[in-house]
Amino acid sequence: MGEAADAASGGAAHHDILLEGIAGSPGYAVGKAMVLDRRGGSVRRHVASHQVEDELERFDRAVTAAAARLKAAAERTRGSRAESSILEAYVLMVEDETLRDEVERHVRIDRLCVEWALTTTVDEMARQLSHAGDFYLAERSHDVQFVGQHILESLAGREDSTILSRPGAPGVLVAHDLSPAETATLSRESVLAIVTEVGTRTSHTSILARALEIPAVVGVAGLLARIGDGDQLLVDGLRGTVTIAPSPTARAEAIARAERYREAIAARRSLRDQPIRTRCGTSIELKGNIELPGEAPIALEQGARGIGLYRTEFLYVNRSVPPSEEEQYETYRRVVDAVSPLPVTLRTFDIGGDKFVSNLQLPSDMNPALGLRAVRLALARPELFLTQLRAMVRASAHGSIRIMVPMIASMVELDQVRRLLAQAIAEVDAAGLPRAPELPLGIMVEVPAAAILADHFAKTAEFMSIGTNDLVQYALAVDRSSPELAYLASFFDPAILRLIAGVVVAGVRYQRPVIVCGAMASDPLAAVLLIGMGIRELSLEASSIPDVRAAVESVTVREANEAAIVAMQAVTASEVKTLLEERFPHLPGAPESR
Ligand code: PEP
Ligand code: MG
Repeated sequence: MGEAADAASGGAAHHDILLEGIAGSPGYAVGKAMVLDRRGGSVRRHVASHQVEDELERFDRAVTAAAARLKAAAERTRGSRAESSILEAYVLMVEDETLRDEVERHVRIDRLCVEWALTTTVDEMARQLSHAGDFYLAERSHDVQFVGQHILESLAGREDSTILSRPGAPGVLVAHDLSPAETATLSRESVLAIVTEVGTRTSHTSILARALEIPAVVGVAGLLARIGDGDQLLVDGLRGTVTIAPSPTARAEAIARAERYREAIAARRSLRDQPIRTRCGTSIELKGNIELPGEAPIALEQGARGIGLYRTEFLYVNRSVPPSEEEQYETYRRVVDAVSPLPVTLRTFDIGGDKFVSNLQLPSDMNPALGLRAVRLALARPELFLTQLRAMVRASAHGSIRIMVPMIASMVELDQVRRLLAQAIAEVDAAGLPRAPELPLGIMVEVPAAAILADHFAKTAEFMSIGTNDLVQYALAVDRSSPELAYLASFFDPAILRLIAGVVVAGVRYQRPVIVCGAMASDPLAAVLLIGMGIRELSLEASSIPDVRAAVESVTVREANEAAIVAMQAVTASEVKTLLEERFPHLPGAPESR
């Protein structure tokens, strides 16, 4: 609870109006709203042919200014924070040639002024991303809009888009959305909490707010229509709620909850570096899943003992030229440096199909999830793949690295990847560059065929990591982004449990580690079930680590195993879930899956 918890409610009537959103960053705060409303006022005019060159020049100047601002913000946050890598990605997006080309086309052909051309282009790009059918890309559509916003601000001559030199601070920042550049300028001194209209648990505002330890509630529909500057707000970043004009009772309750939360956090911190064991003393490894290098320190902060899944495709998205070997090497090295001596599992790119990457001309498959994606694309474009493999091999000189290949469906693919990895190693050696002597190569088990043939894969793959998000999608034939079919897409489905059990048996037989890195690992009940099935390593979203840790520590392997034996006999996903809830009533239910 911030100091403003003590602030008076300004004499307003106590209404306790409750707005519900998504818990973006934990913690509580009470304070006055500082509303940031940038809507309206966008410039729309047609230009004459003789004005075209001037307009484009104006655009280029604005891009230079916006890029300089973002670079300065990235510089300020360089070091261990998540922000700087997000901001660096923004600089690349601001300077992106595709964006420039599209704006130029709208100015030259449609004769739109640059503001209008830019808004149109950004809307088109954002629409494409959000319709790509991929959760990750839908998130990136917000990024495109932020980037557009920054250029628009430069065009309007507003060079300082930083928020909180404003009166009213410290208070609760209320906005439609915040860009990472804006979030990076915030501090706990200037902002008690953040509340936004859009966003999810994995959107950048949430990631950054968690990094800065500022409570946040995101995705509150209709927020700006309900809250005015100076309104008293109570923000509950654990439940994802915002109360307008909280009553003294609501405030007192929040203060008590905040106190309990602070104590729990302090207790967790003191545990952070302690090994994780079940109640009976069996050691369990919990690692973090990341998409951006800056998330690695956050994962460690939450208690991760290394990174079990680094989704490297982020490096390829939204840019006109694929990342060079050098850029990739530097990026992987940053993660390895941040995490060393703990290990990092680098996943080779999982792009193609439904994952839109502007610089690769990919065929438009009828059924993108079943198309040229991940390892299939890597093998179809060996040069692109070798560049990434060389960068990974080079990064291995700096710490403990494992390489993991997504979407493996056949042994033929694994053999081909191994040959290409050998070639990448030979090339790195020929260039006289250092590397680790050993580089374990493992597979993701996310295509049912790989799970069914796990005993064959276990002979050569040095580890197997089960990606339950795709395994559920492919085994149950349910598009992973379909809200209508979400009721079918459960990792508790007995069909999924049987596939996982087969992989565990193969791992034991050939003494290969079997890890679970899909959303199933982030669910405390499911994590206990997995331990009962013989899994000893999980890789999960950083913010779920404390809950999963608590779940792991609360059970014995025997209890988990008995529950797993019964669960394996169940016929439906809900039966499995119910019996787990009955056996482990103290565990929290499933968090939002990715
Ligand atoms: C998975 O499929 O479970 C997984 C971890 O990979 P992604 O979510 O990146 O496809
Ligand atoms: Mg996957």
